[in-house]
Amino acid sequence: MTVPELDHARRLVDGAARIVALTGAGVSTDSGIPDFRGPRGVWTTNPAAEKLSHIDEYVASREVREQSWQARLDHPAWWARPGAAHLALVELERQGRLSAVLTQNIDGLHQMAGNSPDRVVELHGTMADSICLSCDDRRDMHDTLDRVRAGESDPDCEICGGILKSATISFGQALDPVVVDRAQEAAAGCDLMLALGSSLTVHPAAGLVDVAAAAGAPVIIVNASETPYDDVAAVVLREPLGEVLPALVSR
Ligand SMILES: [Zn+2]
Repeated sequence: MTVPELDHARRLVDGAARIVALTGAGVSTDSGIPDFRGPRGVWTTNPAAEKLSHIDEYVASREVREQSWQARLDHPAWWARPGAAHLALVELERQGRLSAVLTQNIDGLHQMAGNSPDRVVELHGTMADSICLSCDDRRDMHDTLDRVRAGESDPDCEICGGILKSATISFGQALDPVVVDRAQEAAAGCDLMLALGSSLTVHPAAGLVDVAAAAGAPVIIVNASETPYDDVAAVVLREPLGEVLPALVSR
């Protein structure tokens, strides 16, 4: 690890009181959940899988939905435990210096690690619930997956018969405007943004870096590969998050 850059990052973290973390898939890879665009990412190794993540394909094809339900049954997040990066953000909250975690992840690991649920903004929704695309009826995903295990390969809404999906944002679906507002407000009010484990290529999530920078907050990027925001950042670190983040937050 380059010592001057790490020292610079440490000084920024030490001097900050209202830190906002923007987290992506790289935060959860140590927990056994593959990312999407990394070298061993889900879409890098199987480009067809990206197409299956589009809402139009999901609505149009029963086969896509059946595959999606099988993938949800087997999702590694059901067995995952928080990693060192998650725990470092809990430490920042314990120190009273973490305003919010804005996450692109749907795995719930920030809350499982111990961050207060009201500080975690799930930009892309959560896999913990299923939702009806017609009437918005929400259920615990475990109850819906029980129906899949019992033999319903594409369970429909018990209220209106509509199509069910995990309560996550697929390509082609708009983010919840209330959630986006909360995230933008947090980014505009922070005095340091940590952009962690995200390729910063998916909007509007990536644009939260602009919001923080425009408000005058320095940005620290920790990501294994280049991002379009590296020029905006005060410090860019490429080292593994599970090593860098605990070193940055320890007092
Ligand atoms: Zn319904």
